[in-house]
Amino acid sequence: GQCIMACPVGALTEHENINDVWNALENTSKYVVVQTAPAVRVALGEEFGLPVGTRVTGKMVAALRKLGFDKVFDTNFGADLTIMEEGTELISRLNSGQNLPLMTSCCPGWVKFMEHNFPDRLDNLSTCKSPHEMEGAMVKSYFAKKMGIDPKNIIVVSIMPCTAKKFEGAREELSNESMQDVDWVLTTRELAAMIKEAGIDFVNLKGEAFDSPIGEGSGAAVIFGATGGVAEAALRTVFEITSGKDLETIEYTAVRGMDGIKENVIELPNGQKIRTAVVHGLGNARKLMEAMERGEKTYEFIEVMACVGGCITGGGQPIVDARTSERIDIKAERAKAIYTEDEAQTVRKSHKNPYIKALYDEFLGTPNSHLAHELLHTHYVKRSKF
Ligand code: SF4
Repeated sequence: GQCIMACPVGALTEHENINDVWNALENTSKYVVVQTAPAVRVALGEEFGLPVGTRVTGKMVAALRKLGFDKVFDTNFGADLTIMEEGTELISRLNSGQNLPLMTSCCPGWVKFMEHNFPDRLDNLSTCKSPHEMEGAMVKSYFAKKMGIDPKNIIVVSIMPCTAKKFEGAREELSNESMQDVDWVLTTRELAAMIKEAGIDFVNLKGEAFDSPIGEGSGAAVIFGATGGVAEAALRTVFEITSGKDLETIEYTAVRGMDGIKENVIELPNGQKIRTAVVHGLGNARKLMEAMERGEKTYEFIEVMACVGGCITGGGQPIVDARTSERIDIKAERAKAIYTEDEAQTVRKSHKNPYIKALYDEFLGTPNSHLAHELLHTHYVKRSKF
């Protein structure tokens, strides 16, 4: 993974949390839930000799059940929830004209970069927690209530492409009633190590489906794994919510691809314009921030991912040997797999996910409601430059 070098949090060495997770699985008094980020399913297979770009979603779910997790959830549900909350936040900022541009907050590498380098701009960041933190918060509230389990007995494990998520998982801003939303974060490589330790024949596993009711996500959620995905998912939902109409073409190809800074303008049916910038790699992010500070650029919405290509190349992903990466464009292959996974979903817009609708109807009320703010939003801290 390139991210280890590029991340401002690269100084954090990857902790070995594998033993903590084994201990949790062996503790019969604990209910252990696992969730997996979109980028994991398009890279995990590489650890077992499968070609780069192989989607192993079903095998991954089957392997997690064999490891003993009580529920296997998809962080894509949390990503759909992020879109509902962040899309609503964008619409209200567009209406009030305040704190624009709205900047995405799902990448902890980028959030930390902002806290250290542009502390006066923290109000621009979305207050949304990242998808896996939202998922964890829902597991320990909505799901716990539904199942009649004391949330203190629930352990949430996130499988992430990212080493920075380990830091994020421990932030005290991301907890409710002194409980962490997420207890342990394992990387894609660490999950592969556990599967190998357990002696599971991964390649020959039969595919299985994620658990319900908060375990399933839309196609819009899966594209979070590639640069441009969050912006595309948000625009799909914001357009439909503000227009009340179904979109005919749902692919915003302008925000796809590997250009360092991608710009696009969307006009909403009410005439409001959303000037969008999609940035990946912190070098590009710095360039964009400086251009904005000089007044050369104006946007309403900005997506930033610290890793080049987005989470598919995160620091916790399988490391591809030099000979293979000379032959194959790893980023492009993994991104292609992400977009194929989106196309394979019947529901491709976050607000159309029936489980998301049920969550609001039964528990949260409306997006950005008081309860949603309490459980799904956070704040940021000015940190000194290092
Ligand atoms: Fe982590 Fe993704 Fe951000 Fe990289 S781009 S630091 S993998 S969240």
